[in-house]
Amino acid sequence: MYLVLLGPPGAGKGTQAKRLAEKLNLPHISTGDILRQNVKLDTDLGRQAKGIMEKGLLVPDDLVAKMLDERFNNPDIKNGFILDGYPRTLPQAYSLDKILSAKGLAVDLVVYLDTSDQVIIKRLTGRLVCSKCGANFHTINMPPKVNGLCDSCQGSLYQRSDDNETTVRKRLEVYKQEVSSLIEYYKKAQKLHSLNADLGAEVVLKQIVELSAKV
Ligand code: AMP
Repeated sequence: MYLVLLGPPGAGKGTQAKRLAEKLNLPHISTGDILRQNVKLDTDLGRQAKGIMEKGLLVPDDLVAKMLDERFNNPDIKNGFILDGYPRTLPQAYSLDKILSAKGLAVDLVVYLDTSDQVIIKRLTGRLVCSKCGANFHTINMPPKVNGLCDSCQGSLYQRSDDNETTVRKRLEVYKQEVSSLIEYYKKAQKLHSLNADLGAEVVLKQIVELSAKV
């Protein structure tokens, strides 16, 4: 099943994608994670993306499309994927269709995680990420058992450089400029389902699993 998770930064796309990937035994593909990995490894792409990401802006479509096309050459996507963070613009949705159709594939389901700005700002400015396994924690809502360490793999936890309030607000603004055309596009294609992401992560997960079983 080729599933796309849409929603503002902080809607829980990453958390849901990780759990779904385990449950459905599909790869979790996050364009943000791939870009951060490139920044960490100081690749050409990483050097081009770093400053843009720190400002909360979007990396140019052609760079991200090429990166994704390469990722889709991995045979692990033969039964599907959980795509998180892509598409973010209408041209990216067109690119996604084009890249997939060249491989004889298509998006089956798009789940839109709807949530309020207040919830997002609280979630993101308190978010902690494991440097080893990518698990998410929160300083207040979900603190780790041991300060600074991941509960599952004991990796060290860090705050993403774009999870400060100024950049979060910019990311939200960028997101809002682009999202309505994406929603329209997937509505027309009859692939879109909206869920209230302010509900607990378990409730949302259950709803996505139910939707995916109907595809
Ligand atoms: P995320 O981890 O999805 O919040 O993404 C972090 C940052 O990576 C974004 O603020 C963008 O700068 C960049 N990024 C991730 N996905 C995309 C995309 N599909 N198009 C452009 N930029 C992206």
